[in-house]
Amino acid sequence: MQVPSHVEYERATSVEHALSLLSLPETRVVAGGHSLIPMMKLRLAQPELLVDINDLAELAFIKLDGDQLRIGALSRHADLLDSAIAGQHFPIFHDAERMVADPVVRLWGTVGGSLCQADPSEDLSAAFAAARATAVIKTPGGERTVPVREFHRGPYETVVGRGELLAEIRVPVRPGTGSAYEKVSRRVGDWSIAAAGAVLQLQKGTIKEAGLGLTAVGAEHFVAAEAEDYLRGRAADDDSFKEAAKIAAEHCHPSADQRGPEDYKRHLVAELTTRALRRAAARANR
Ligand SMILES: Cc1cc2nc3c(=O)[nH]c(=O)nc-3n(C[C@H](O)[C@H](O)[C@H](O)COP(=O)(O)OP(=O)(O)OC[C@H]3O[C@@H](n4cnc5c(N)ncnc54)[C@H](O)[C@@H]3O)c2cc1C
Repeated sequence: MQVPSHVEYERATSVEHALSLLSLPETRVVAGGHSLIPMMKLRLAQPELLVDINDLAELAFIKLDGDQLRIGALSRHADLLDSAIAGQHFPIFHDAERMVADPVVRLWGTVGGSLCQADPSEDLSAAFAAARATAVIKTPGGERTVPVREFHRGPYETVVGRGELLAEIRVPVRPGTGSAYEKVSRRVGDWSIAAAGAVLQLQKGTIKEAGLGLTAVGAEHFVAAEAEDYLRGRAADDDSFKEAAKIAAEHCHPSADQRGPEDYKRHLVAELTTRALRRAAARANR
C-alpha cells in the first residue's frame, strides 16, 4: 500500500492555533514530512487531520541566550548545520548533521520532527541526550520542560501528548566543554549501523562531567549511563576513554538485523565511543 488514507489538512497560523487543532482526536503535526508522509503512505500512521506548522516562523531559530543554546523545533537540519554559533559551542551537532541523510532531506527535515519521530536510529536524539538538552513543550495551559533523556518513552513514542507541540530544545553551554559525534553507516546518507556522541567538560585534565549518547543500539533513552558514571572524576586520557567505551558496548542492547550482527554493533560502539571521546577532549582543550 503506497497511498495514504483520506486525511484533512490545516495550516496553523500561530502556536495557539496549532495547539487548538492538536486537541482534536487523531491529529498529527506535519513539519518536514520526511518521516510522517512515508509512514502514512504505508498506513503505519493514519491521522484524520494533519496540522502543518511550516508557517510558524517563531519556531525556527537558533540562538545563544545567556548560558543556553536555544534551537527552535522548526529549525531545519540544514539550519543547524549552517549555524556558526551551534558549531562553535557544540561541534557534535555539526558532526551529526553532516551525516543525517542527504542535502534534500536536510533542507526540509526539522530538528523537532527528528526528536518527535523517536526512531531509535535518529542521530539528533543521541546528540541531544549527550548534551543533556531540555525539550520545551507548548501545552494548552502554557509550557513544560522535559530533559531530552526523559523525552522518549520508547521507539516512535514520546512524552508529547494530545494538544501539545514541541517548541524548542535548550542546550546548556558550560565552560571547558568539547563534543563530537562518530557514525558508521553502510553508505553515504544512510541510517546508522551504530553511532556515538560524546560531550566532555574538563577541568585541569580531569573529567568534570561526561555525556555519552548512542544511536541505533538499543541504549535506554539513547544514553550510555554506566560509562558516564565511570568517566566522571577520571583523567581525560586514552585509558579512561577505552574503558568507558568498553562499558558502553557491554551495556547497550543492539539487535541483529540487515545492518549487521549484534557483536559487530558492540564492536562499533566501543570503537566509535573511544573516537568520539578523544575528539571531544581535544576540542575541549583547544
Ligand atoms: C531518505 C531518508 C534518510 C534519512 N536518514 C537519516 C539519518 O541518517 N539520520 C537521521 O537521524 N535521520 C534520518 N532521516 C530522518 C530525518 O532526519 C527525519 O525524518 C526528519 O528530520 C523528521 O523531521 P520532519 O520535520 O521531516 O518530521 P515529520 O515527518 O514532519 O514528523 C515526524 C513526526 O514528528 C511529529 N512532529 C514533528 N514536529 C513536531 C513538533 N514540533 N511537535 C510535536 N510533534 C512533531 C510528527 O507528527 C510525526 O509524528 C532520514 C529520512 C529520510 C527520508
